[in-house]
Amino acid sequence: MTSLDKILLKVQKPARYVGGEWNSIRKDWDSVAVKTVFAFPDVYEVGMSHLGMQIIYHVVNSRQDVLMERVFAPWLDMEEQLRQNSLPLFSLESRHPLREFDIIGFTLQYEMSFTNILNMIDLSQVPLRSSQRGDADPFIIAGGPCAYNPEPLSDFIDLFVIGEGEEVIGELLDLYKEWKAGADRAGRADFLRLAAGIRGIYVPSLYQVKYNEDGFLASVEAKMEIPGPPVPARVTKRLLKNFDQAPFPVKPVVPNLGAVHDRMMLEVFRGCTRGCRFCQAGVIYRPVREKKPDTLLRQAEQLARNTGYDEISLTSLSTADYSQVKEVITDLLNRHAGKGINISLPSLRVDAFSLEMARQVQKVRKSGLTFAPEAGTQRLRDVINKGVTEENLIDAVTGAFGAGWSSVKLYFMIGLLTETDEDLDGIVSMARRVVETGLAQRVPRGRLKVTVSAASFVPKAHSAFQWEPQDRLAEIKRKQRYLKEKLRMRGVVFNWHEPEVSFLEAVFARGDRRLGAALEKAWELGCRFDGWTECFKYEKWLEAFRLAGLDPEHYAYRRFAYEDILPWDHIDSGVSKKYLAREHRQALEQSLTGDCRHEKCSGCGLCPSLEVDLEIAGGKSVRAGYNGGAN
Ligand code: SF4
Repeated sequence: MTSLDKILLKVQKPARYVGGEWNSIRKDWDSVAVKTVFAFPDVYEVGMSHLGMQIIYHVVNSRQDVLMERVFAPWLDMEEQLRQNSLPLFSLESRHPLREFDIIGFTLQYEMSFTNILNMIDLSQVPLRSSQRGDADPFIIAGGPCAYNPEPLSDFIDLFVIGEGEEVIGELLDLYKEWKAGADRAGRADFLRLAAGIRGIYVPSLYQVKYNEDGFLASVEAKMEIPGPPVPARVTKRLLKNFDQAPFPVKPVVPNLGAVHDRMMLEVFRGCTRGCRFCQAGVIYRPVREKKPDTLLRQAEQLARNTGYDEISLTSLSTADYSQVKEVITDLLNRHAGKGINISLPSLRVDAFSLEMARQVQKVRKSGLTFAPEAGTQRLRDVINKGVTEENLIDAVTGAFGAGWSSVKLYFMIGLLTETDEDLDGIVSMARRVVETGLAQRVPRGRLKVTVSAASFVPKAHSAFQWEPQDRLAEIKRKQRYLKEKLRMRGVVFNWHEPEVSFLEAVFARGDRRLGAALEKAWELGCRFDGWTECFKYEKWLEAFRLAGLDPEHYAYRRFAYEDILPWDHIDSGVSKKYLAREHRQALEQSLTGDCRHEKCSGCGLCPSLEVDLEIAGGKSVRAGYNGGAN
């Protein structure tokens, strides 16, 4: 029995670390030129639910010359075992220590996973900071939504991929393979310098950051004195064109133990142009690119054949907005319902939902329905450009209750700009109306359940609300108490997010590279799995900021001015800052902006600057031409 086998006997869930799952790929270690590992900074069950990992795993392993294996954050018991036995973190497929790979690639889905990234680098026995790594060490790279403000992690990550990884990873691997094979190759700085020449690659060590005496950012500039091709002043995201034909994992790895989302994931489209002003995803994944119905039906067949799952989840940022959603659901049900395969729509918009769709989907089995009105009054929904009315919600839940559902979830956000207690009262009255609607639709009282979830607003880089401060902790807590008190009604369950976690999210979402020091201190103090309630240690975080000499409130509560240099200004999402500022002003005027899928182009600047078009299934052109707004 190896040392690894022995420690596996001592941990709670050994299946998290053994690999060998259905459809996992193990290549011959010695016969491939480049070895990479996809590192997910959370536990196996969370990581295996992540479609992005499956896509990159599929794309990279489709190449003969490269292998990609997987690793997930070891849970606390496994970390203890690894450290006690001086064993390095290892991959699932071949159990090679991570330090033996050429490239370790992290996905950045959530700010509260950042300490896990530091922990995984350390457990790999790789120097924590990029500046300490030598030629024998692997390159640590990262991508995903949090890479759009990469600065808090810039001390630890050698390079970031900005945008859609499957679009750029091939070029990066080609470059690495060529560089590695080069007889006269220089040190790792040479590779990073060359990688910075690939569009969408950001190498933080090649940028000089200066601060004013008051602590605010003065400039972020590419270091031009380094020999080689020019380092771009701004790094522009990469995105897939012709999404319909993009590589898709129709043979995904089927997890060994219950993943959070244990089902087939069929990505219906990418992007969302609804324009919710708090939303970062709606900006960074633009434009909307839909797959054709035939492609989806074919991929669903292949997924069902290759996985044995009994549920197909139609994923996207807002699946009910897919232009062919009814046709595709009907066809999927016709083909798969007889085999006991259920269809689920994880994200529904209250206005796009219809009774017909509810009835169609529930033919096989009912799964939960979630609606996100986001704010309790029409005034505040107009501020955030939500573009839905209370009547839309009531129509949707009437349809749902009438079709046999007995429980619905309603998502709201508190702490939005201009919010008053009247808006909180609006949440309460909406919840009450939904309960009344359920009763009117003859849902038995004992079965009727309306779950109201209130997240706290976190200002996100690249959103129209990026300049806004977060509500102070005391105010968020007061609003939560207010709602808790008023939502004490039969049939309603109230959930809220831990405000201290939301506070730290805001700190890192809008942070600069000085935060690396606090992150390292927090990790040293034992912070891990900060997104997990049982692991979150707020006091340790406050201690970390104190030791690093940083004030977290400076990051979460600061109101930026339009003319301020923002820590992420050198990362270009394709959407212009001028457009975001206009959206911010329109929010204060409660003025709505339409969806360019259905109305005229609102001039976000993305399509002309990245030379793309919206891709709508069926080929319907929905753009009425650009009306300015770029840069
Ligand atoms: S440039 Fe116009 S059409 Fe393209 S995503 Fe932006 S708003 Fe939509």
